[in-house]
Amino acid sequence: MKDVLDTFIKNLIPGKPLVLFLDYDGTLDDFAPTPDDILPNPEVIKIMERLVSDSKIHPILLSGRKLEHLRALLPVDKLCLAGTYGLEIQPVDGTLLMQEAYDTIRPTINRIKPVWQELIQEDAAFFLEDKGWSLAIHGKFVNPETSQRVLQEALHAATPLIDRDLFQIIIDEKFLEAAPILANKGNAVLFLVKKFGYENMNYLYIGDDEKDELGMQAVQCLGGSAIKVADTQVKTTADWYLENPQAVRVFLNSLPGKI
Ligand SMILES: [Mg+2]
Repeated sequence: MKDVLDTFIKNLIPGKPLVLFLDYDGTLDDFAPTPDDILPNPEVIKIMERLVSDSKIHPILLSGRKLEHLRALLPVDKLCLAGTYGLEIQPVDGTLLMQEAYDTIRPTINRIKPVWQELIQEDAAFFLEDKGWSLAIHGKFVNPETSQRVLQEALHAATPLIDRDLFQIIIDEKFLEAAPILANKGNAVLFLVKKFGYENMNYLYIGDDEKDELGMQAVQCLGGSAIKVADTQVKTTADWYLENPQAVRVFLNSLPGKI
């Protein structure tokens, strides 16, 4: 951890603030049993409070979780929260900012939801997550064969129901999500930097999963760097690795006063 911190600090542009993009699950804290579990971590809250009180650091929580959950997880004044991959944003002043109108998105979700609900009925271990702006099936606790088959069926069932100009479907072995095209972390990084006038600063992105890679690339395009929370076998665009959320918390705790 110390090597990553020292190298990161050495590479900073002197005198410029740091815009710090942070994923939540698997990055700041271990995974909750299901995405609907909201288990605030007092240590993470304390670290966020320290970060926002440093005028040189602008932390932004950028998560696939819905904004409502992020608010419950991180009740921290002046912390910018960007939920549903940056579609719904609570800036530092506590107001609400949307990248896309809810009414243009929701009818598609309403069409897909009953179809997916029926498909996952065969195994109670599936979990359907309605984030409002997107809909996801989690198959983490389902046996791999069933998970892959049902997710493929769900993909085929949803494809004719979505407007390709507005929506995308993301699939891997254990997860399927129908989400607006704008809902990706790379787009969110660029949107937030522009919206908040954070151009020409230092940037760091810390995240653990596939969906963070686009955010990392966007930050690297801005001249910043990225940290992957994983062991070093995992392929990534990131510049450095930290092994787990605990190492990330130690790293973040060391930042105030160093920028
Ligand atoms: Mg994560």
